[in-house]
Amino acid sequence: MSIDKVLMERSGGVCELCGSSENLSEFTVAPKDEKILVCGTCSEQLNDADKVDPNHWRCLNDSMWSVEPAVQVVVYRMLNALKAEGWPQDLLDQMYMEPEVIEWAQEGMADESREPTKDSNGTILEQGDSVTIIKDLEVKGAGFTAKRGTVVKNIALTDNPEQIEGRVNGTRIVLLSKFLKKM
Ligand SMILES: [Zn+2]
Repeated sequence: MSIDKVLMERSGGVCELCGSSENLSEFTVAPKDEKILVCGTCSEQLNDADKVDPNHWRCLNDSMWSVEPAVQVVVYRMLNALKAEGWPQDLLDQMYMEPEVIEWAQEGMADESREPTKDSNGTILEQGDSVTIIKDLEVKGAGFTAKRGTVVKNIALTDNPEQIEGRVNGTRIVLLSKFLKKM
C-alpha cells in the first residue's frame, strides 16, 4: 500500500511517534478516519496490546509535543495504557491538548478503560444478562423490597461497575452487582 503524500510530507518520512524510518505504514486513529505515519515497531505494538514494550514508548517524551492532533491522540492513549509504569503519568501531566482532542482520544479508549461489572461470584456481567438477587434489598425511593430469588432479566450496565439497572416489580431500579448472581 502506498503512503499518502501529504502524510509523508507532514511527517518528514519518519514515524511520527518514535522517529524511525523502518517499515513505515499508515495508522488510522479511530474513531476518526485520520492517519498518522508509524514504523513497523510502533505499528505492531499499537495493534497488539500483548506486544507492548514500555521502554519503546519512552519516545513519547518527544512526540507528545507534536502539533498534530492525531499524533497527540495516539500518544495520550498509549501513555494512559502504560500509566502503571509511573513515568507516563508525568508526561500526561505535562501534555497540552485542546479539549476536543482529549475527547477524541477518550472516545477510542472508553471500552478498554472500563472495569468489568462482576456479580457476587466474580462472574462478569454483560448487557442483557439475566441475574438472580441473592438477598432481600430495600429499594430506596421505590418503597418496596426486592426479594431474594427475584429474577431480573435483560439487565443494563452502567458507567459504575458496582451497579446495574434492571426492572423489578415493574420499576426500573439500580442494583448493586455484588448482590446478584448471573443465571
Ligand atoms: Zn515508531
